[in-house]
Amino acid sequence: HLFGLKDQVAIVTGASSGIGRACAIALGRAGAVVVVNHLSRSADAASEVVREIESAGGRATAFAADVSREEDVQAMFQEAVRKYGTVHILVNNAGIQSGARFQEMTIEQWRKVMAVNLDGQFLCAREAVREFLRRGPQPEISAATGKIICMSSVHQRIPWAFEVNYASSKGGIALMMQSLAQEVAPDRIRVNAIAPGAIRTPINREAWETPQAESELLKLIPYGRIGEPPDVANAVLFLASDLSDYVTGATLYVDGGMALYPAFRGSG
Ligand code: NAD
Repeated sequence: HLFGLKDQVAIVTGASSGIGRACAIALGRAGAVVVVNHLSRSADAASEVVREIESAGGRATAFAADVSREEDVQAMFQEAVRKYGTVHILVNNAGIQSGARFQEMTIEQWRKVMAVNLDGQFLCAREAVREFLRRGPQPEISAATGKIICMSSVHQRIPWAFEVNYASSKGGIALMMQSLAQEVAPDRIRVNAIAPGAIRTPINREAWETPQAESELLKLIPYGRIGEPPDVANAVLFLASDLSDYVTGATLYVDGGMALYPAFRGSG
């Protein structure tokens, strides 16, 4: 019970795979009640995550919602409050990539990535803030009235050719997170971000699935290994718990040093 999350209610978006799945399982193991958000086409994978949390003695429920749709997001928060009374933690994780040469990128591709990555985080964070303010402080549960963790990327800082829409969405998340953190700090709501580097998940399979791709990728990672979803989930536990009670508006890079301009190390 290091993290003191027992009976706190957490919504994790995009939790049927990859980083979101690992965050949901880690929060469930740490005693939180977890809403495992997923797209309706991923219902089976989401049920698996719920079963895994329950088999470890935790509580969880799956909820299908497209985070880019206001009515879906509102229905998800309503259901969480109806079922569990309130929400204490939001992990704004759902995200997509849809790359193209810039001159060939369609407006649909641009809008789709913005809709999921940026509108989705806005809509979920707004419902979370509304619920935190409605409920008010619960000092016996947590020092903060609510906690929001935004899954950003090293590409909030590192430009990314052929993924201009994705990098733009993550840059947007960085200033949304900080501006919101500044706005709601007096309400004792903490808002932080995690910037993962290269984590082994379905989103970037082609970057690690062949030995050649993996060795190219490792050139960008001073720490010498690709990240695994629990590396990110561990950071989420910290930012969700009172261990980080004085931390707000921060971005925690979980990237094995990818954002440290590794090319400047030369051959050492
Ligand atoms: P992933 O593809 O396994 O996870 C993304 C999840 O979001 C999927 O489960 C998908 O179904 C869900 N999703 C997509 N659109 C959605 C929508 N409209 N509504 C609800 N859910 C939706 O990949 P991942 O690597 O686990 O990505 C999770 C987050 O981490 C993303 O925000 C991604 O940008 C970020 N990230 C990943 C890496 C990495 O190396 N894997 C690096 C930096 C940032």
